[in-house]
Amino acid sequence: MKRRQFVGLLGASALSLLLPGAAFAEDERKRGSTSTTSTTTSTTAVPADTGATGSVIVVGGGMAGATAAKFLRLWGGNKVQVTLVDQNATYSSNIMSNLVLNGSTTMSQLTYNYNTLKTVYGINFVQGSVVGIVPPVGSGTGSVRLADGRVLTCNKIILAPGIEFDAVPGLTPALQDNFVTHAWKAGAQTTKLAAQIRNMPAGGAFVMTIPAAPYRCPPGPYERACVVADYLKKNKPGSKVIVLDANPFIQAEKVGFERAFTVTHAGVIDYRPNQAVVSVAASTTGGKHAVTTNSATLYADVLNVIPSHKAGKIITDNPALANVGGRWAGVDVRSYESTAVPNVYVIGDSAASGQPKAGHIANQEAKLCADAITRALRGDLIPNPAPKTNSACYSPITADTASWLTVVYGYDAVNNKMVAVPGAGPIEAAAATQDNFNDMKKWFATLMADSFA
Ligand SMILES: Cc1cc2nc3c(=O)[nH]c(=O)nc-3n(C[C@H](O)[C@H](O)[C@H](O)COP(=O)(O)OP(=O)(O)OC[C@H]3O[C@@H](n4cnc5c(N)ncnc54)[C@H](O)[C@@H]3O)c2cc1C
Repeated sequence: MKRRQFVGLLGASALSLLLPGAAFAEDERKRGSTSTTSTTTSTTAVPADTGATGSVIVVGGGMAGATAAKFLRLWGGNKVQVTLVDQNATYSSNIMSNLVLNGSTTMSQLTYNYNTLKTVYGINFVQGSVVGIVPPVGSGTGSVRLADGRVLTCNKIILAPGIEFDAVPGLTPALQDNFVTHAWKAGAQTTKLAAQIRNMPAGGAFVMTIPAAPYRCPPGPYERACVVADYLKKNKPGSKVIVLDANPFIQAEKVGFERAFTVTHAGVIDYRPNQAVVSVAASTTGGKHAVTTNSATLYADVLNVIPSHKAGKIITDNPALANVGGRWAGVDVRSYESTAVPNVYVIGDSAASGQPKAGHIANQEAKLCADAITRALRGDLIPNPAPKTNSACYSPITADTASWLTVVYGYDAVNNKMVAVPGAGPIEAAAATQDNFNDMKKWFATLMADSFA
């Protein structure tokens, strides 16, 4: 029997048992929406013809997605059509957003638009929230569906939606926006948290919670504790920063943060490991907020609860994709193709790649993925057999000093995973210095330009 007849006899429901991703493809078909093929503009910054031909949709225009879109065009050329979809018209950088909390910068200074990606690299930017995908089968087309009903078609789909949070008992989204923020997706909540800190009474208590790993930016919460402690020392004498960490120990730059907590910010930061949040009672009338952990209830003038993380909803909605504990997407780290759904790639914080969830790593994963897809669209069968990535992370410790951490990862072909290269990290700064702080600004500007300019 010919393959086409056989498939016809099986019917859609039976097919879904055979093809990874077909179950949600069938859901999408039932919705019966109309398709639009995306168009991409040819530009001179992009090579005319590299031998690669096809179309790619990138979902999520953050650190991973914006980089992948740009490098797909730079390496793939004008015959690779790239559509970047984000729910927002601009991107708010999480990186450096802790410096909004001490008034050193503002969210508007950390906002990036997609103009250069559109005009210089000829990327088709679509603003919309992706609510469904149909994985492409073989060299055919798949699609992504937006909340407003639009459907875009392509040959490859990259998902880069960042993270979602688990619910915290007692905290609704409205309470998080207005009273007990996470400020862990930078934006209005970051500005809100900065205002709450500014309005804290002297001698007050800033209580923050850190979720169990894996979470985005392993040093980030400890960096936040330091920046806030530094601000409170100077502006709200007698105040305390109480850090409730669900983890048994500091998750990154252990030596540096221990020094920061016990020397630089001694008497201000009170670090408590093994404190998992059980519930929160937010005050909506200006009183103290309560947070209950597995061992105590604490009261805070300002309460900053960072909930535990999982992959973006577009991934956890599709069990085939969320094949690491139902929470993260398993990927082949040579290409970032899903280990379960062919032609769908997952990069950035949503991927279980064995590397830290960090913007610098998201940028590196994006480039490896763009390279692998370019090769596939050119007809090459094999992605880079020995990928290498590196992660550099700077952490402000005070308003004008910073520390850093760096690691180089290489591909372990035996176990098919990325591992730290012996002798190349993790290496952390010997001390928090002003020089490091200045280098941090250069590193940040370079990273953001690599992704958005
Ligand atoms: C306070 C803080 C400090 C940090 N500091 C550092 C640092 O110093 N160094 C470092 O390397 N990393 C740092 N990070 C981590 C870094 O920000 C993340 O690891 C990085 O942003 C992950 O990139 P991403 O592309 O996966 O996700 P994001 O950058 O969050 O981008 C995801 C994008 O997807 C979009 N999206 C989501 N779902 C949909 C959908 N269904 N449809 C359409 N669009 C969608 C979102 O709007 C967003 O634009 C920090 C994080 C925080 C919170």
